[in-house]
Amino acid sequence: MKLSEFAGYGDKLEQLMRSVQAGRIVHALLLSGPKGSGKRTAARLFAQTLLCRGADKPCGVCPACKRFLAGTHPDVELLRPEKKSIGVGEIRALVDKLSMKTYEGGRRVVIIEQAETMTAAAQNALLKTLENPVGDAMFFLVTDAPGALLSTIESRCQAVRFRDLSVEECAGVLERRGVEPAKARRLAGMAQGSVGRALALDGDEDYARLREEVLASLEALSDPASVATAAAPLEADKNGDGPILEIMEAWARDLMAVQCGGTPYQSDALDRLRRSRVDGEALLKAVFTARRQRAANVAWNNVLENMYFRIAGGRA
Ligand SMILES: [Zn+2]
Repeated sequence: MKLSEFAGYGDKLEQLMRSVQAGRIVHALLLSGPKGSGKRTAARLFAQTLLCRGADKPCGVCPACKRFLAGTHPDVELLRPEKKSIGVGEIRALVDKLSMKTYEGGRRVVIIEQAETMTAAAQNALLKTLENPVGDAMFFLVTDAPGALLSTIESRCQAVRFRDLSVEECAGVLERRGVEPAKARRLAGMAQGSVGRALALDGDEDYARLREEVLASLEALSDPASVATAAAPLEADKNGDGPILEIMEAWARDLMAVQCGGTPYQSDALDRLRRSRVDGEALLKAVFTARRQRAANVAWNNVLENMYFRIAGGRA
């Protein structure tokens, strides 16, 4: 894949690359956005394009590309938290390397994943390097929580903000990866446009079955008298509340879209969304409350019944 083909961001990435190659830009990119929105893939693609020695970059076949793809390129530094954080020692060791010549004579590339896990000391050490660059390194900071970075770091970086893709864009990416079109749309809908999530769901038949079970349960919910019957199959479900609430949240967002005249992600289920007796906003609020209660260790069957009772117009 070329940078220009990157779904949703091709033009932006191309333009940044032209600036980098012309030496016109700060030497650090901050790629932020929700999980699975493509920021990590974009950082890697950008880095590979920068290091490629072929004509049509990234060519994928030159020695530099091959080493990059194999994770053995000597001029690439990849940092990510080993446990919970990236410490100041790791940043100092990195900075020491920056003053050395690169093996291949080109630029050095530094990719910091989950950059928000850098400790304050680590961020300050990195900041000094971003302010007074050593060598010709290009930095890629990747994060889904940019607010956790020092504002001084943010201001030293060129920001690229990723969002989840539309269902068409996401399905297009999946199709290019060989997923059959109807399935690509269904997965893109379930994953709410997150390519990473959709790929994880591909082939997960249990998740598809669970989604069907959750939707059937919501459809069985009408008035307060229906709560116990509707909730029973999910109370007993061995998958637990995490995936069930995730499916409900996606469904709630799509119900809200349809109920406001918008376009839902799960367009394969448009008729079911339209027929729903459940109010999207009420369901979404109930999902958030349920997560809080679960975090406080309230039993799942109580959480679920409370949730359904509230949605069905009871007073629990
Ligand atoms: Zn190449």
